[in-house]
Amino acid sequence: MLTAEVIQELSAVVGAKHVMDSAEDLIIYSNDATMFHSRPEAVVQPGNRDEVVQIVKIAGRHNLPVTCRGAGTCLSGGPIPLKGGIVLEMTRMNRILKVDAVNKVAVVEPGVITFSLASAANQVGLLYPPDPSSMKESTLGGNISECAGGPKGVKYGITRNFVLGVEAVLADGTIVKTGNEVDGDMAGPDWTMLFTGSEGTLGVIVSITLRLVPIPPVKKTLMAVYDRLEDAAKTVSVTMASGIIPTTLEIMDNLSIVSVENYLKIGLPVQAGGLLLIEVDGVQSTVEEDADHVSEICKKCGASEVKMAQNAAEAEELWLARRSINPAFGQVAPCKFAEDATVPRSLVPVLVGRVLEVQKKYDVPIFICGHAGDGNMHPTIMFDKRNKDQKERAEKALHDVHIITLELGGTLSGEHGIGFAKAPYLRAETGEIGYKLGQEIKRSVDPHGLLNPGKIFFYEGVLH
Ligand SMILES: Cc1cc2nc3c(=O)[nH]c(=O)nc-3n(C[C@H](O)[C@H](O)[C@H](O)COP(=O)(O)OP(=O)(O)OC[C@H]3O[C@@H](n4cnc5c(N)ncnc54)[C@H](O)[C@@H]3O)c2cc1C
Repeated sequence: MLTAEVIQELSAVVGAKHVMDSAEDLIIYSNDATMFHSRPEAVVQPGNRDEVVQIVKIAGRHNLPVTCRGAGTCLSGGPIPLKGGIVLEMTRMNRILKVDAVNKVAVVEPGVITFSLASAANQVGLLYPPDPSSMKESTLGGNISECAGGPKGVKYGITRNFVLGVEAVLADGTIVKTGNEVDGDMAGPDWTMLFTGSEGTLGVIVSITLRLVPIPPVKKTLMAVYDRLEDAAKTVSVTMASGIIPTTLEIMDNLSIVSVENYLKIGLPVQAGGLLLIEVDGVQSTVEEDADHVSEICKKCGASEVKMAQNAAEAEELWLARRSINPAFGQVAPCKFAEDATVPRSLVPVLVGRVLEVQKKYDVPIFICGHAGDGNMHPTIMFDKRNKDQKERAEKALHDVHIITLELGGTLSGEHGIGFAKAPYLRAETGEIGYKLGQEIKRSVDPHGLLNPGKIFFYEGVLH
């Protein structure tokens, strides 16, 4: 129970205006981008690492859970404080501490918005490739904690490939530093990876060291239009087997195309069964060659049209279409299960076929889009939770999508994390021993279960 005395202690650390406990504030900080809610007892906004240490120690003395929050854009329930206590809102810690063009590294606080770092890197000729569609809102602390992916993952890799080290405050208030600014650090197991994707359950990340890469000089963007979504999916595996690694290979089904067109009115081919948005980058000669080669593959796999963006503005318009999928979804139904079912790339056509069957079986709208080049698909199941029958059908469809993904040797989460939304299925992916090991790791750094309780390996029940 968080008492007035605790509020005073917290206020003495961060200042009263950075401690919130009004009913309105608690409602605002009770959710993320899923449809679930659970209220904290207070929200605290630390301004630096030492304040985080003090807050965590106060929480420990009073046995209060601490749930970190970046921008709250999570799609698996990660920042929802399932057991109440304190929401630690990290967005005041938003300084880019260093962008080193020679060593190609950046050091940032966790509350930096991803796009701000990408822009700062661009200014010195460097690229921070991880580009979740939420990059203008989400924080690097949230990205590292969820191991965010994005369209460029197919060529450059996802967040994990760019984290060199973190500094984290553990549940007892001590600080651990993992990694450093050296790419080839082999001093023991990769502790940094333990925190990457740990969803705020192992420590509060207070500083992050990231790898940057040079900006490729040229890129080309193509849109391939298909009558059948299955042919678009087939193009993905054929392209990936061809030896070309595109920078992006995104898929959209008819429902996504029509919804985005209704939303943006930019002349998308609404009759199409599916489309691919493909980008290749590198030096001029290879990019031209690769773009032509990819275009040929698309046609051979059944594309009725392949459109090459003629300039940056046209390319941006195509990307706007992809980035607008999420807002456009809302036109179809008020609630969604936004999944990130990920399978080996060669099985993308199989996954697409089976999700289409699920759609028919339960008669629920399912958007099929995603970072197909990574095998990272986003079957997004739409429903209205006030309609009991529709909600039940959506839940059954969700169950089937999880099972199909695991049957195909895939993973429950290619980028959105487990949180609690996917936790009931985790044992099926990790096996009993892997699951227990996960619990032991958590217990060893957080024996009283104060950091983000109820998530990943310690799921206890479902919120509806
Ligand atoms: C429209 C939309 C598009 C999206 N597109 C993508 C996409 O393309 N790729 C993708 O991967 N995801 C995507 N997401 C999901 C989401 O944006 C990512 O998971 C993102 O990384 C979350 O960042 P955040 O700052 O909002 O973190 P939050 O949602 O606030 O928190 C996420 C998790 O991180 C933990 N956390 C946050 N900060 C810290 C910290 N400093 N220390 C320890 N733990 C911390 C929280 O406890 C929580 O478990 C999308 C979401 C939306 C709404």
